[in-house]
Amino acid sequence: MRSSREEERRCSVCGGPTTHWLRAQEVADALGCSVRKAYYLLDRGELRGIRVGRSRRFEHKSIDGYVNAQLRVEAA
Ligand SMILES: [Zn+2]
Repeated sequence: MRSSREEERRCSVCGGPTTHWLRAQEVADALGCSVRKAYYLLDRGELRGIRVGRSRRFEHKSIDGYVNAQLRVEAA
């Protein structure tokens, strides 16, 4: 049986086993933007991420949230 704590750690976007982190290149592919733009959004706090040594990872959930927010802006 799965504990709710474990459930919490799952990626709410793709259902991956833990909170799921993407590389800048994956974010760029997902958003159809440049890698540079992905880092820019991270620096602006539009996307959430972590630092892993010298590289950075983007939270899958926050990318989904960003996309949804943009969709709302476009629809308004
Ligand atoms: Zn995910």
